[in-house]
Amino acid sequence: MTSPAVTAGAGSPAPTALAADIGGTWVRLRVGGAQAPVEKLRSPSRLNHPDRSVEALREEMVELLCRAAPPGARTAISFGAAIDHLTGTVYGSAPLWGSEAAPYDLAAALRRRRPDVSWLLVNDVTAALVDFAATHARPGVRRIGYLTISSGIAMRVADLDRNLIPVDGWGLQGEIGHLPAMTSGSEPRIAGLPCACGARDHLASIASGPGIASVAERLGIAEAPAVVRWLPGALDAHHPAARRLLELCVEPVANMLRTLWCLDPHLDLLGLGGGVVEGLGSHYAEELRRQLGAATSYADRGRGQDWLDERLVFCGPGRLDALRGAERLGRWLPGIVA
Ligand SMILES: [Zn+2]
Repeated sequence: MTSPAVTAGAGSPAPTALAADIGGTWVRLRVGGAQAPVEKLRSPSRLNHPDRSVEALREEMVELLCRAAPPGARTAISFGAAIDHLTGTVYGSAPLWGSEAAPYDLAAALRRRRPDVSWLLVNDVTAALVDFAATHARPGVRRIGYLTISSGIAMRVADLDRNLIPVDGWGLQGEIGHLPAMTSGSEPRIAGLPCACGARDHLASIASGPGIASVAERLGIAEAPAVVRWLPGALDAHHPAARRLLELCVEPVANMLRTLWCLDPHLDLLGLGGGVVEGLGSHYAEELRRQLGAATSYADRGRGQDWLDERLVFCGPGRLDALRGAERLGRWLPGIVA
């Protein structure tokens, strides 16, 4: 077992002094815990500053965080990027640093500048899972997950019995958006759809926000930019093409969840959130529940509505907070392990 290299002393009960939630548009900072005010700053990102070099943007990020950390502070930072949870190395983030693909050891840069501070970096999905677990886990829940479906798709699962968030040798877990999509193949027009990572036929190619727009385009329903505005109202109006679009884009998510429950029957509670789930609201929830209710084989007999009620939580806008999750990370240390 390898524990994160960037944690404070194991089991330290001291509260996090600085928490941060870093996204492509905003950086949110809070010093002193949940009752303290949140400071919101424009992110030093490629999205906000397309003219600046990646090196300059990274330098600004390090500077911003080092300026915010009180002397000797313990920090917890939620980062909107694929990140090695064991070392704090960032594998890449298009909104922050564009197409720059070389891994960047952000934690090392922070430690060099501020060795007095203990730096803990996690991905924002991990932070959201920690917040979800703190706010929704009931007694008896053995494993708990959080699935986000927005511009990308990712999921994290925590083991509540052992207080662990397991990761692989790269410090990753649940980057499922870039796995091959499981579809029935009933719609040949959506074969070969590109993914943001450069590959084709990934889960995110079909089921993410941009994926839904690509599917709509292939079906000849709408031009990509118009779909986001059109779809919720079209679903309200029971538009058949909108129904078909939703069905196709939910299908690989439903199949992924079937596989997950088949392999891990103790995954007792799953939160779903992100822009797609929030934006399509009850339409998305009902379609996913409908598909999961259907039997596909003796090994997958279909889930009753009571069964689904107990296990699925559709999180509306503002229900989970990665900043709050970062502040709650102390409870999981040193439980983020490979
Ligand atoms: Zn991909």
